[in-house]
Amino acid sequence: MNYGEAQRRVKEAITDMGGALRAVSLDIHSHPETSLAEFHAADRLSGFLAERGFEVTCGIAGMPTAFEGRYGAGRPVVAYLLEYDALPDIGHACGHNLIAAGGLAAGCALASLGPALPGQVRVVGTPGEEKDGGKITELKAGIFDDVDAALMFHPGAKTVMWRHATAVVELTIQFHGVAAHAAGSPQQGRNALAAMIQFFVGVDGLRQHIPETARLHGIIRHGGTAANVVPDFTEAEFLVRALTMDDVSRLAARVKACAEGAALAAGCSVTVSEAPMYSERKNNHTLAGRVGEYLAEQGIVPEEPILKGGTGSSDIGNVSLVIPAIHPYLGVAPDGTPGHSHAMREAAGSEEAQERMLKMGQALALAGLDLLYDPEFLASVHEEFRISSPDFPA
Ligand SMILES: [Zn+2]
Ligand SMILES: [Zn+2]
Repeated sequence: MNYGEAQRRVKEAITDMGGALRAVSLDIHSHPETSLAEFHAADRLSGFLAERGFEVTCGIAGMPTAFEGRYGAGRPVVAYLLEYDALPDIGHACGHNLIAAGGLAAGCALASLGPALPGQVRVVGTPGEEKDGGKITELKAGIFDDVDAALMFHPGAKTVMWRHATAVVELTIQFHGVAAHAAGSPQQGRNALAAMIQFFVGVDGLRQHIPETARLHGIIRHGGTAANVVPDFTEAEFLVRALTMDDVSRLAARVKACAEGAALAAGCSVTVSEAPMYSERKNNHTLAGRVGEYLAEQGIVPEEPILKGGTGSSDIGNVSLVIPAIHPYLGVAPDGTPGHSHAMREAAGSEEAQERMLKMGQALALAGLDLLYDPEFLASVHEEFRISSPDFPA
């Protein structure tokens, strides 16, 4: 099949599957599941792939809600990465239902070319983006070893083809004290809540003396069980963000020192455990730019890339340091709408967002088609990957 014919068929496939893809997105949106518990979403998405001829494996990389669908054979291998976890309580306020359906759209549109497809398309279900770094686990398990490029998008309040992202590590901080009657014999107790409060105060003292691009923020998960018992156990979940993984490591050491100091002051002990670190992000501008061109053709014109201001972090960063990867943003909410907000959750379930998700799905599919059909384009994507660095604020 020639390239022009393939392009036409990819567009037709997106149109034909539009209703079904919209239904998948809204179903996931109305069944929010948190990190690594996305059973309903993983079932629905992997089932969709199996129905369209993908060879599907569920539970990859030791995670029950991770999956992979393969179609075609040989190289190149183009992978679409799907996220589908929601946030506790607030639901799909990060719009991962749209990421899932848009990636599904792109993968299935390429597979619709049948045996004529040169190379392979993979659709990889990457669970736990909000907390557990499913992509990092998959990277370690070799899921991306033979992948030539990884493509995904993220909904937001602006359409931009790339932006920087901070590295981040999650620390779990536990203080252990001694329980006692809080009025009858407090002198026999050691207060793990006092240590926790000192820890947060200590971090606020540190905060003034960190780079302005760094962020320190956390919550107390466990603060005691009864007002008349000296708390002997408290736990915080704390995030340390900075421009690079090296910066995060250095800053995390200073945060741990705050915890140790607080424990010493309150006569408690402390344990600090670290989750796998999310890295800074190396966007492939060549590939992301191509997605932008295909979006513009459909009436969604990207704005200038954002390389300033506050930003989040994602485990796509870790993938992007190993293979060419993109994570463009698709505006689905009014400019200024914060991520992780009730307004963003509403937007991610709107009819307009589903329409735009399908356009992004088509743009991702056509960019993937170019990687499979045009060896020079693939080579230019790989060459940029070889010589470029992660994006940082200007
Ligand atoms: Zn997200
Ligand atoms: Zn998020």
